[in-house]
Amino acid sequence: MEKLKYERPVINKINAGVTDKFGMGHKIPIIQELEGNKISDLTNKYGSPLFVISEKKIRDKYNTAKQAFTTRYPKVQFAWSYKTNYLNAVCKVFHSEGSWAEVVSGFEYDKAIENGVDGKNIIFNGPDKSIADLTKAIKNGSYIHIDHFDELFDIIKLTETVSEKPKVAIRVNMDTGIYPKWDRFGFNYENGEAWNALNRIMLSGKLELVGLHTHIGTYIMAPEAYGVAASKLADLAINVDKKFNHKIKYIDMGGGFASDNTLKGAYLPGKDTCPSFDDYADSITNALINSNLDTQNLPTLILETGRALIDDAGDVIATVLANKRLADGRRSTIIDIGVNMLFTSFWYDHEIYPTKQTGSHSEDTTIFGPLCMNIDVVRSAIKFPLIQKNDNVVIKRVGAYNMTQWMQFITMRPKIILIDTKGESHIIRENETGQTLTAMEKTPTHLT
Ligand SMILES: *Cc1c(COP(=O)(O)O)cnc(C)c1O
Repeated sequence: MEKLKYERPVINKINAGVTDKFGMGHKIPIIQELEGNKISDLTNKYGSPLFVISEKKIRDKYNTAKQAFTTRYPKVQFAWSYKTNYLNAVCKVFHSEGSWAEVVSGFEYDKAIENGVDGKNIIFNGPDKSIADLTKAIKNGSYIHIDHFDELFDIIKLTETVSEKPKVAIRVNMDTGIYPKWDRFGFNYENGEAWNALNRIMLSGKLELVGLHTHIGTYIMAPEAYGVAASKLADLAINVDKKFNHKIKYIDMGGGFASDNTLKGAYLPGKDTCPSFDDYADSITNALINSNLDTQNLPTLILETGRALIDDAGDVIATVLANKRLADGRRSTIIDIGVNMLFTSFWYDHEIYPTKQTGSHSEDTTIFGPLCMNIDVVRSAIKFPLIQKNDNVVIKRVGAYNMTQWMQFITMRPKIILIDTKGESHIIRENETGQTLTAMEKTPTHLT
């Protein structure tokens, strides 16, 4: 007979059947499968921890977002933000839905080309573009979003040696009522710098001004801010048309829509408080449609939303390494994934679920990662049932940024699988091994 597990008694106020002040019950749901795959089957096959991406959730979310915009504005184009999640399989799902690529480095640019994206469907953003990157992008007819005057002068100079006419836009930063303002990228609207850059581009005669771009921040919970930004970009477009009789082809509103994750310290869960795609679409398209943009030549509306499209589609399965009591009696659970692979646990209170029914008690628990580092806290306080060593948990909504910002540290990065729309699982990134790391190391001969 298996030895019974001792569960320390706790005194809890009885709230059975009573909802809390938010109208929510206290029962902690369990997650037994992901897209039709039993958790235990997945960990047996692929190990733990394991990142799991749902192709169906990506496609569904993308189509929800697309519909919100295409029902409100005649010309809409999405461009997948590579840095949010640049696993090839993930990018290819977005591209198969019609998404362009939005990249912010030469490495990401090459990745988009290797993923089969036509150079004419790549938007090249960011402050870091080398002369070689710019040359390649000009030759491929990609859209270069200029970040600063030094880059503008580089591109003008390149027209002496490259025969293709560069297709450019400028990134504009502005006051949208969101503080702190993101003013380190692009040209400022209020102080006239953006207008100055546009005049230089038009008067150079050497560049084709195709669009106007902004990306006002990330996890923006105020849709109105996008309306302000869209109005300011529309104003610039109208002024360019007035002064130079030149119509821009697109207005690119960037990304920054909030996902359903809950920010640390938020009073209510993200899924109850974050605006929907419809809210953002209303704000942006109202501003464009009510502006004085020429109705015969309405610019295409480009969206580079990242987080809000991919966060929900990613889960991570982890395993309990141990339970222990902290000195003050608090319960803590150590799991096999830490903050080096779950960067977003620094700013989100990620939802974490047990994968099987355990006792009826739940208790405030701190969930630690496996690192020998005090900061390795995945959830500082969560009501959790007592789960045991080797039990699994599922951490929700980890699809954005974790799989690009993660770093190898102390432990190896695990496998990532994609579950396709038929429920079949595929490895889309192998786990690291000691060999992966030592392959890059060199030992000077005197130490061998
Ligand atoms: C990161 C980034 C995005 C995506 O931002 P989200 O907040 O994830 O939607 C879009 N455009 C640019 C220029 C970016 O740097």
